[in-house]
Amino acid sequence: MTVGGEAELTCARCGAGGVSTFEHRHTFRYGSGDAAADLTVDLPVRRCGKCGFEFLDRESEEIKLDAICKHLGVLSPSGTGRTGPRGVPGQVRPCPGKMEQTKGTPGTPG
Ligand SMILES: [Zn+2]
Repeated sequence: MTVGGEAELTCARCGAGGVSTFEHRHTFRYGSGDAAADLTVDLPVRRCGKCGFEFLDRESEEIKLDAICKHLGVLSPSGTGRTGPRGVPGQVRPCPGKMEQTKGTPGTPG
C-alpha cells in the first residue's frame, strides 16, 4: 500500500519541503439532537520535519465531507423515497466526490 507521498508538500508555516504525513484517527460530531452522529475518519496530518508544525489541508476536509456523505447515504437509502430522518432540514449537500471531474489544482508542479 502506498500512503500518499505523490505530491511534494510544503510546510504551511515555514515553507520547508520536508513534510511527512501520518494518519490520525479523528472523531467528530455531525448534526445535533437525535440526529447527531459521531463520525470517525483517518485524517492525513502533515508534519513539518523542520519546525515540527502540524496541520491539516484540503484533503482532510474532503475526507470529512466524504464521511458525512456516506453517513447521509446510510440514513436515506435509495428506493425508499425522500422520507429521510426528520428534524434535520437543509443538511443534504452534494457529495464532494462528484467534483472529481474538475481536477487541475492551480499550482500543481509539472
Ligand atoms: Zn515548518
